[in-house]
Amino acid sequence: MHNKEKHIVIIGGGTAGCVAAGRLAREGYRISLIEKDKKPGGKINNWYQLFPDRRRSVEVTDYINKEIDHPLIDLMTGTELDKVKYKNGKFSISTGKSDLGQADAVLIATGFDLFDATRKEEYGYGIYDNVITSLDLENMFHSGDILTTKEEIPKRVGIVHCVGSRDEKVGNFHCSKVCCVTAVKQAIEIKEHIPDSEVFCFYMDMRMFGPYYEELYRESQEKWVVNYIRGKVSEVSENIEGRLVIKAEDTLLGKPIRMEVDMLVLMVGMQNAKAGLNLQDKFGIQTGVNGFFRIRDNHYGNNLSNVDGLFYAGTCTAPMNITDTISHARAAAVEITEYLSKN
Ligand code: SF4
Repeated sequence: MHNKEKHIVIIGGGTAGCVAAGRLAREGYRISLIEKDKKPGGKINNWYQLFPDRRRSVEVTDYINKEIDHPLIDLMTGTELDKVKYKNGKFSISTGKSDLGQADAVLIATGFDLFDATRKEEYGYGIYDNVITSLDLENMFHSGDILTTKEEIPKRVGIVHCVGSRDEKVGNFHCSKVCCVTAVKQAIEIKEHIPDSEVFCFYMDMRMFGPYYEELYRESQEKWVVNYIRGKVSEVSENIEGRLVIKAEDTLLGKPIRMEVDMLVLMVGMQNAKAGLNLQDKFGIQTGVNGFFRIRDNHYGNNLSNVDGLFYAGTCTAPMNITDTISHARAAAVEITEYLSKN
């Protein structure tokens, strides 16, 4: 059987799904790429610049779009999976719109959802206008203006790390991995936009795991004079002038802090996407204690699921940055190629 007679269904047209689709199409496989949104690219479409080099995200979306520009890839946007039947290692799949026929392998690349910040009432998101999320701030970078709801330039900005991550109260014990460096990047961008502003990051630990992250963190302090306070914000309120009042504890100095800011940015963490979790029963796949899909082996099988012929790529398995997502997607393509050559 030639590769082109084999059919792979990829669910999710974000970074992971598109990169894997490109690789597999170049191997000669026929690909059905299902994306629920109107265009491919996923969350990266919302981001303005990327860490650590602050390149424009459109450069990466251009790369992703080129990956899927292949005659063997049938991209179906605005489409969601409907029914699945699994028999003898083959999947029969239909979307709400059409029957995709039989698939020899399926790749789940449904990505992540950002934590819903309204669940952390103490931070006042959805209650006070000038409490925003990291995503809201990216939208401001896109528009070119960072303004409070009174259309004023914020002179003091607070950034809260670990919102919805490493938090027993919301049931998320995991570290979302990328929000510390996102905070550093966004703090620099605020200072770039508003040079006379003061920016304060409230962190539990600074987790700078990737190449050039530590250097960016250092640059943020030495060049941009971003302030880092080790401590957890316990409460946010609004005073009579409409400024936000933060109560926290500086755990290095062992002192309580009360600070007024004009804007507060919440670094919302990553969770397995609802769109992915909806597939759980359809495919009979499992999640781990962190809510992401359970991989077959932590060391040798991080693209493999508990179902033969069904693979994972990207942040549906764990928080990861774009570089790691691309590598994970390429590895998924290798796993699928090997699987199909044996079956
Ligand atoms: S990367 Fe940083 S901000 Fe994000 S969850 Fe981990 S420690 Fe918290």
